[in-house]
Amino acid sequence: MTVAGTARAAESRPAETESKTAHPAQSYIDRAAAAVRSSPEDSVRDAEAALKILVGQPNADLEIRARLLLCDHLSERDKAAAEAEVAKARALLPQATRRGLEAGVLDCEGTILETASENARAREKYEQAVAVATRAHDDEMLAAALFARGYLLGLQGQYAMGLADLKRGQALYEDLNLPDHALTAMNGIAILYNRMGDFSQAGHMYDQALKVQRDAGMYREQSVTLHNLGRVHENLREWDASQAAFQESYEISRQLNYPRGEAYALRGLAAVKNAKGDPQGALQTLEQAMALQRQTPDARLNAQIQLARGVALHRLRQLPASLEALQSALDVFRQADSLSELRATYGELAAVLSDMGNWREGYAHLVNAQETSERMFRNQVDQRFATLKVEFDTAAKEKENALLLRENTANQLALAQGQRARNLQRAVIFLTVILALLLATLAWHQWRSTRRMRTLAMTDELTGVPNRRAVLSRLAPLLQQPNPPSCAMLIIDIDHFKSINDQHGHAEGDEALKSVARELCEDVHEPAFIGRLGGEEFVVVIPGADFDRANRLAERFREGVMSIDTRRWLNDRRITVSIGVTMSKPTGDTPSTMLQRADAALYDAKRAGRNCVKVQLPATESETPAPLKPAQVEFA
Ligand code: GH3
Ligand code: MG
Ligand code: MG
Repeated sequence: MTVAGTARAAESRPAETESKTAHPAQSYIDRAAAAVRSSPEDSVRDAEAALKILVGQPNADLEIRARLLLCDHLSERDKAAAEAEVAKARALLPQATRRGLEAGVLDCEGTILETASENARAREKYEQAVAVATRAHDDEMLAAALFARGYLLGLQGQYAMGLADLKRGQALYEDLNLPDHALTAMNGIAILYNRMGDFSQAGHMYDQALKVQRDAGMYREQSVTLHNLGRVHENLREWDASQAAFQESYEISRQLNYPRGEAYALRGLAAVKNAKGDPQGALQTLEQAMALQRQTPDARLNAQIQLARGVALHRLRQLPASLEALQSALDVFRQADSLSELRATYGELAAVLSDMGNWREGYAHLVNAQETSERMFRNQVDQRFATLKVEFDTAAKEKENALLLRENTANQLALAQGQRARNLQRAVIFLTVILALLLATLAWHQWRSTRRMRTLAMTDELTGVPNRRAVLSRLAPLLQQPNPPSCAMLIIDIDHFKSINDQHGHAEGDEALKSVARELCEDVHEPAFIGRLGGEEFVVVIPGADFDRANRLAERFREGVMSIDTRRWLNDRRITVSIGVTMSKPTGDTPSTMLQRADAALYDAKRAGRNCVKVQLPATESETPAPLKPAQVEFA
């Protein structure tokens, strides 16, 4: 029974439809593929319309698809025409982009052979189709090839292997979201159960399929399923149910103008008539079936008709005609190795031959029938076990897949969570760094502005040297040390500075102040330090200096200021300074007492006529002053 088997076709793939919507032939092919199941004539019309369009706008992939659809349709109607289509499709393969299409071509070549009962050659084609589709990773073509191979394996009694293929095909179709095809695969599985003798399981599956097919309006498929259901009831000897199923199948096939379907249904109806004791009626029905069968190249159908005819003719005692019919059926069933039909034919032949008095041959056929029966029974048992294993394996695999899927999902969830945690961590680190940078910048600004304020508070604005507070606050800790170093202090006061202001203006006075500050700074080196006491007075402190060095430095200051070139702003007037020098006491001295002494010395210098250095030492050390040049130093 290859009616359902030939329904497989290289059909449209949703992905292909999307990516090639531009080609006008595409929609025709998609429609033709869909109509294969519901309306074969419409399917052919659409495939032919697609081919017409493809003449103007060639596309190898689409043309192969269209020709495969035609081949599939013709394979059960016109062998030569089907062969012509598949040959054209094969010739186009080198130009095709979809590698898996070769599997479709092999499939249809196999179908043509299978319809002619050349099952061994058909099997080879299907094997190749499975290999090609697997290599091309073309799941849709693979599903079709598996279906074809599985169906044929079932026909050959290899139920377990057939079931494995059909189940794989069905699963692939489900994955590809092709429910119609998955349903056809299920039908194939039901046929297989029927062959295995598990009629009730097969009947259950057909009922299920029939319901879906009725809802979806898949008429051609309905006629096939109804026929198969009729077959199940026939096997169960439920003649009324069998008759009802065959009758409905026949009516649908007639409406569809589907002669092959009609012929199969009529064969079934004839078998029922034989069983119900109406061989005459059976013969008439079979005449009708034969006329229709001539329109299809289905060798097995013909053999089945001949078997039913043989039975009817036997009942009518037309023994030679019966023998001839049965003999022709036998040849085909033998070639196809179709065990249940072979057994029935042998049995009927044995009865006819014994009725004809040919006991010897009759007995031989009886033995054949028994052997076939045993073979069939053994095979059914063996295969039943193997099938159970396939079923178990499939269930185990499904369970394993489900577990893997769950594990995968869990892993992915964990990965995603890990990623989220890492992202969060990164964000926190990033924000922390930003915050730290912000705080550091803020702190740096704070520190800088504090330092600026401090510097401003400690610096004389006009001259840029430290102010009085700065100098005194630096001096105080030096003097407070347990063993303070000997410190020299010099107060440097510009002579007659007021008159500079008066004669040249305040601005020039400022310039003079700055020049003097600059000049003094040049000779002040660490650890010595300078500051502006206020007005036109500067102070220099030299920690660790002895009296002699202090005086030398004071003299250098005096000469240095005198050497300032003031022509630019004071015409030919020179600036001079008077300097008061003092030394710190070994203990108990303070900045203010030192200032007092230095100021007194300065006062002396002014009184002595200015532009000179005077010294005022602390009282205790006045006895042992260091020697100075008499012209410049006077002792207090
Ligand atoms: P002596 O030789 O006795 O020191 O006479 P003198 O004119 O230098 O001293 P006096 O104390 O009489 O005058 C100091 C002048 O310095 C008075 C004041 O106007 C001027 N002065 C003080 N500070 C500044 C300043 O920042 N810029 C200018 N241009 N003049 C200043
Ligand atoms: Mg002064
Ligand atoms: Mg002065």
